[in-house]
Amino acid sequence: MQHYDAIILGAGASGLYCAIHAARRGRKIAVVDHGSKVARKVRISGGGRCNFTNLECSAAHFLSLNPHFCKSALARHTPWDVVAFFAEYGIGYEEKAEGQLFSDQGAGRVAGVLAEQCHRNHVAVLLEREVLSVSGAGPFQVETGREILEAPRLVLALGGRSWPQVGASSLGYRLARQFGLDVVKPRPGLVPFVLSGKEGNRCRELAGTALHVAAATGGRTFIDDLLFTHKGFSGPAVLQVSSYWNMGDSVVIDLLPRLRVEALVDEHRSSNALLRKLLQQHLPKRIVQEFLEKQILETPVSQLSNKQIQQAADSLHQWRVTPARTEGWEKAEVAVGGVDSAAVSSKTFEVASVSGLHVIGELLDVTGQLGGHNLQWAWASGHAVGVLL
Ligand SMILES: Cc1cc2nc3c(=O)[nH]c(=O)nc-3n(C[C@H](O)[C@H](O)[C@H](O)COP(=O)(O)OP(=O)(O)OC[C@H]3O[C@@H](n4cnc5c(N)ncnc54)[C@H](O)[C@@H]3O)c2cc1C
Repeated sequence: MQHYDAIILGAGASGLYCAIHAARRGRKIAVVDHGSKVARKVRISGGGRCNFTNLECSAAHFLSLNPHFCKSALARHTPWDVVAFFAEYGIGYEEKAEGQLFSDQGAGRVAGVLAEQCHRNHVAVLLEREVLSVSGAGPFQVETGREILEAPRLVLALGGRSWPQVGASSLGYRLARQFGLDVVKPRPGLVPFVLSGKEGNRCRELAGTALHVAAATGGRTFIDDLLFTHKGFSGPAVLQVSSYWNMGDSVVIDLLPRLRVEALVDEHRSSNALLRKLLQQHLPKRIVQEFLEKQILETPVSQLSNKQIQQAADSLHQWRVTPARTEGWEKAEVAVGGVDSAAVSSKTFEVASVSGLHVIGELLDVTGQLGGHNLQWAWASGHAVGVLL
């Protein structure tokens, strides 16, 4: 039996960050993971560039049954604290749109810093371990097949189900249930859509075309890029709405959000220009041809009837589709849902009914929007527990 001050299950973003902050304070920490490397999701994050935080991060950018739950931890460890942490080890940032900060040295280096800091602070990182059983209730015992670990504190940092290719599993949810916690049914979020039938064919025709859109579902609208794929559509605007989408819901897409068709026509009312020509100045040719009737496109603007103008406007500003499904866990960046925060302290992340048990990171029912919010949540919740273990 090996004894520690705390055992952390999951060597991902939140678990490692938690371990480093606890070990820096002299705590004896073990981190257990079934992977052969630490922080595998961090390594592939942001397309290999790791969008590690977002300067605009606030509760408004998260989905959760309790929208207030994330506030305390986010306030106690801000994006600038995360920037300072990584800057200490030579990682700077490049800012993209809306405060999205990417590592200036790639995602692998972010994972490298986490691994190095665990090593330097004598965290026992136990990789390639299956968690066979977890028992006790302070002290907790974890049986891995190679060893039995015991500690008065146990941190569940096992992430969500997205990307099983890099080790995601539902162990976290199972252990949470074992300790009597409710789990808000997880579903894939930040995930591309699959379209079938006529709309599916249309997407296949347009595969590879990207454009700026406003995509809306469930009362939420996101203005960003959409990319047509062979299965349906993807791109940041689509990934964002997917987190708010439920099976059967429709998605309404404005293919020309910056300019109303009516305004364009009004501006050229007295001209003989064809609507096709005018629209092609603002949209890819393939989109114009695919979404509008030939007859309308080939009519001089001055001769368009009000009905035709309305028809053109509806086709471009109100494309309504009902996705057949999402591309599922293999393509989802996050899990929406997770361990219900109702029984977890927003200050200590300790489970009310099980003293010494903490739950952090994506495993909780706290899901960030695209743009660095999910990693900021992993760091902030990991830090909140790391400084009190
Ligand atoms: C492709 C992709 C790109 C992303 N890009 C970004 C980005 O740029 N910015 C951003 O903010 N977020 C991004 N995310 C989301 C972000 O990576 C996660 O929200 C974050 O890593 C969650 O941290 P975590 O510690 O809670 O979980 P994880 O980092 O997933 O860590 C969980 C750990 O638990 C381990 N584990 C799971 N099951 C078991 C088991 N049965 N036994 C033992 N160990 C187990 C896993 O191996 C893993 O190491 C991306 C996600 C994906 C999939």
